[in-house]
Amino acid sequence: MRRRVASLAAALRERGVDLMMIGAPFDVRYMTGFTGSNGLAVLAAQDSGPHRFLTDFRYDTQSAEQVPDLFTREIVTVDLLEAAVRGLEPRANGAEVGKLGYDDSATTVKQHKRLRELLPEGWELVGCAGVVAALREVKDDGELARIRAAAELADEALREVLEGGLAGRSERDVAIELELRMRRLGAEGPSFPSIVASGAHSALPHAEPRAVEIPKDTLVTIDWGALLDGYCSDCTRTFASGSLTEDARDIYELVLRAHEAALAAVAPGLSGREIDAVARSIIEAADHGEHFGHGLGHGVGLEVHEAPRISRTAGKQAVRIANVITIEPGVYLPGRFGVRIEDLVIVRENGGESLSSLPKELTEIA
Ligand code: ZN
Ligand code: ZN
Repeated sequence: MRRRVASLAAALRERGVDLMMIGAPFDVRYMTGFTGSNGLAVLAAQDSGPHRFLTDFRYDTQSAEQVPDLFTREIVTVDLLEAAVRGLEPRANGAEVGKLGYDDSATTVKQHKRLRELLPEGWELVGCAGVVAALREVKDDGELARIRAAAELADEALREVLEGGLAGRSERDVAIELELRMRRLGAEGPSFPSIVASGAHSALPHAEPRAVEIPKDTLVTIDWGALLDGYCSDCTRTFASGSLTEDARDIYELVLRAHEAALAAVAPGLSGREIDAVARSIIEAADHGEHFGHGLGHGVGLEVHEAPRISRTAGKQAVRIANVITIEPGVYLPGRFGVRIEDLVIVRENGGESLSSLPKELTEIA
């Protein structure tokens, strides 16, 4: 935690910001260790602080256990933002204007208005969206170990489920069993609602599992992940529930080729846009560009979708060592079928290391 606080302080100094308020729950957890639902941190641009942590009386004991001593804890009875701002010393009489950073991407217009009303004399608000996200992108060894363990657990759960076959069971039944098995293996839960989509339904990238029997001889897409020790995993495999048409096999091979090429291309220094382009150009060359309507991937950590983005519209910023990203090209033919293949990948100095262990060649699970 001390290292994270020091990194944030350095980022604030770089921006000329004196203090930053952090209220988004995953950011608060990252900076302070607090896992409750109502917490707010005010961090200073000096490593030595003062760093404040605010919560309400329900979390007095929990925050005392979770939040390290480098934060001064305040148990407040009013709105946390209000209490945070009220705790600022006014700066008057020619003192330099104080700059209070806040996450303008997670603040409502109403909160912003209230903040400005409450702000003591001599302070101004500075938008600092993305500052914590940029720190969270680069995982430390403890975080990488947790994500790896989540991925291994999720893979094991799916292996167990597949032993019972796919054809003849409902999509919902498979999804429920998968989630149950992840919990039995020690997960806090799924990292997002599992997707089990067969036949024409697999052409919907975010299909919800239905109480419908999975037919034989079709494609079945399963997109699932485990939440373990606060960290997420994310993986997709598409299976054959019997024999497939040549068309379906061709699309599978195309997506697999795009996936393998993008995975092999992952390297620090490449932008999300460039990695996306590796897979997209292969799919476009096969005239299916319009059937690959989503980005190639996203960052994974405390949240299943976080920075960096790996897509056509991602910025030019490069991926960095110890980023954890997904590589998940898909081709979806409306009314017919879809294929998506997703690995969870650590960006290493010499390339991408996949954390997903299930085979990717077309596998028949009847
Ligand atoms: Zn996924
Ligand atoms: Zn994903």
